[in-house]
Amino acid sequence: MTTVLYPGSFDPIHNGHLEIIEVASRLFDEVVVAAVRNPQKGEPLFSLADRQAMIEESTSSLGNVRVTMFSSLVVALARDVGADFIVKGLRVVSDFESELMMAQMNHAVSGVDTLFIPSGSKYSYLASKFIREIARYGGDVSSMVPEAVNKRLRERYDS
Ligand code: ADP
Repeated sequence: MTTVLYPGSFDPIHNGHLEIIEVASRLFDEVVVAAVRNPQKGEPLFSLADRQAMIEESTSSLGNVRVTMFSSLVVALARDVGADFIVKGLRVVSDFESELMMAQMNHAVSGVDTLFIPSGSKYSYLASKFIREIARYGGDVSSMVPEAVNKRLRERYDS
């Protein structure tokens, strides 16, 4: 049985993330999606609990996906959930540079390997920071995020 860990800020989860989760759920026996508190990204839009709830609602049709949250090291969580690999999505070449360094560092400190899943071109331009920005100014992001996220963004910004 192969378990993989897919960590990220997911503030909020969007269709690009979902695509990676769907591919991972086809490839591996169990996928643990973990929303992380990342102080480097500043004050988040959604709380960790809200982000977890949105991921759960958006992946409820995938039987082998479970969702958690954490504020420790990714490699510590990988060990705690019994993950064989960390899975990361790659959008563009610039992602690769930072993700490769992170993968090598994670391997150096824990021996855990990282597997990259490339984004399909359809969603490779999506990033949570753009979703937050568009929604804040009243733009329509319904084609870029699951309904669980669209609903919460509308609740937050529709007056
Ligand atoms: P974001 O950059 O959207 O805030 P996260 O920090 O939550 O994303 O990213 C978690 C993981 O998902 C990272 O491995 C990131 O490269 C990947 N990812 C983010 N956006 C996409 C996308 N549009 N397609 C594929 N993978 C993505």
